[in-house]
Amino acid sequence: MSLQELYREVILDHYRNPRHRGHLPSPDVHAEGENPSCGDEFSLDLDVDGQTVAAIATQGQGCSISQASGSMMAEAVVGKSLDEIHELTSRFKRMMSIEEGESPVDEERPGSVLGDLEALQGVRRFPVRIKCADLPWTTLEDAIRRVEQGSEVLP
Ligand code: ZN
Repeated sequence: MSLQELYREVILDHYRNPRHRGHLPSPDVHAEGENPSCGDEFSLDLDVDGQTVAAIATQGQGCSISQASGSMMAEAVVGKSLDEIHELTSRFKRMMSIEEGESPVDEERPGSVLGDLEALQGVRRFPVRIKCADLPWTTLEDAIRRVEQGSEVLP
């Protein structure tokens, strides 16, 4: 199986069996996003315990890239601190912005840190779809920004 086929399998698996789907009973924050260029919708609920994302649940509809990215994102951020999530988000965005044929320097190789998310790097060959992959992360950033501003979390 080529790497490209493997990536495709990982994406389709997350698309067909999205992780952390549903709603939280009383989320600390809820955020919604959309990608009009493709018609993707994505929203999420977060429970934040101190500085840690204790639980996440996602909803959405759209193309396989956007929904698979949301499933991978949810799996990657649950149990992580807000600082770790900022780092993960910037790694993901860096991976998606690397030009084809350009190799990242070794320490920036996303690999083990990003796990399944690495499968999305094939999307870079289709620039219009990068927005699909970014949507769940943009939505997450919106949610976290509101947590950090303290406008959503009740004592
Ligand atoms: Zn899309």
